[in-house]
Amino acid sequence: MSKSEDGIIHRILVIDDNPNIHKDFQTILLEEEESTTLDNLRSEVFGDSSSQRVNKSVYELDFASQGKEGCDKVKQACSENRPYELAFVDMRMPPGWDGLKTIEHMWQIDPYVQVVICTAYSDYSWGEISERLGKSENLLILKKPFDSAEVAQFASALTQKWILAKQASLKTEQLEEMVKERTDALTQEIAERREAEQKQAELIEKVDNINKELKDFASIVSHDLKAPLRGIKSLASWLLDDCSDRLGDQGKEQINLLLGRVERMYNLIDGVLQYSIVGRTEEKVVPVNLNKFVQEIIDMLVPPKDISVTVENDLPVIECEETQIMQLFQNLLSNAIKYMNKPQGWVKVGCTEEDGVWKFSVADNGPGIEEKNFEKIFRMFQVVAVSEEFQGTGVGLTVAKKIVELHGGRIWVESKVGEGSTFFFTLPKKEMGVHHEKLDANTAR
Ligand code: ADP
Repeated sequence: MSKSEDGIIHRILVIDDNPNIHKDFQTILLEEEESTTLDNLRSEVFGDSSSQRVNKSVYELDFASQGKEGCDKVKQACSENRPYELAFVDMRMPPGWDGLKTIEHMWQIDPYVQVVICTAYSDYSWGEISERLGKSENLLILKKPFDSAEVAQFASALTQKWILAKQASLKTEQLEEMVKERTDALTQEIAERREAEQKQAELIEKVDNINKELKDFASIVSHDLKAPLRGIKSLASWLLDDCSDRLGDQGKEQINLLLGRVERMYNLIDGVLQYSIVGRTEEKVVPVNLNKFVQEIIDMLVPPKDISVTVENDLPVIECEETQIMQLFQNLLSNAIKYMNKPQGWVKVGCTEEDGVWKFSVADNGPGIEEKNFEKIFRMFQVVAVSEEFQGTGVGLTVAKKIVELHGGRIWVESKVGEGSTFFFTLPKKEMGVHHEKLDANTAR
């Protein structure tokens, strides 16, 4: 026994009650001389093509004299994981099982083994054989007496067939395994995605509920807080009107202070309400020409004569919720006007186009803001005293920030104390469905 070119030794089992037949197989399949004869024969039939030569001495032969003994060997080979590829089975093997019974048993043990039934007599017709064993493509009939070339060819072809079938089934198994793995992964992915979607839906519902509660809470609280405040204001005003002679200057001053505090409380409550309302009211998205729109806001604010408020370049037309954008510009512009401390004040509105966003600016030459307060001023109720004259509520910029962020933008301030401030904010062009407007690149400051 030696290995074939591809390193495989083909295992063949011969089951025949005649020891001479065992020898014949040995001679045909294992001995060099006979193989050479076979090669010559093949050359005559196929021409001198080396690729069609039968590999010599690539078989390992085992022999059994009875069907049962043969089946035991098949079982043993399988258990050692060295199965037979081919079995030559004699049809008549008295006193034991005949060929058909042997094959029936053998295929129960190993359904892949290729079988050649060797028969001298027509014991069974092909029809009967097929009926007993099923229409198997793993079965061939070899008539006795043998032709050595036929035996060698059967051995070569059927062992190759066994290997190919094995490879095919291995490939199929691998493919099935891959499909299974992928299916498992996909199933897992789908389950995870479903779970995530479910969680997301639950979260959205929770947030919606919380938002609704907050909205209700803000309006209830503001309503409930304003009622007693109104009472305090009325009482204090009556005191001023009706008891002014008994109050004296100090008393009047204190009641005026009280009224001022009440006013402030009112403003704070309004601020909370204003903040909670932003983004909640259903408003239509409409195209707004900011050139016209911003000018109208400026006019509405009625800036004092010593402050010039100008729009520095063409502003775009954007699709937006009008009230929100109005509130945004209004808050920034009114701050710039309100905090102006220069005799020749100016406020400039500008816009540039940058990386898919509109970058707006509202610049002034007012008092400016210390860098340490750049973030603080955007937080609720955070005021930084600018002048004696104004005491803000610290809501305007918080609302502005909320509006910008609801639109997917960003807001920030750049400033130098004593020189002025520029508030910038961006609005994404795409989300806003912005139409074009040509712009000069400069922002004013
Ligand atoms: P309010 O104006 O009611 O105080 P804002 O939230 O609008 O509330 O502003 C927060 C703070 O930011 C103000 O108290 C002020 O100190 C500062 N600020 C806002 N705008 C300007 C500005 N244009 N120039 C200087 N300071 C400003």
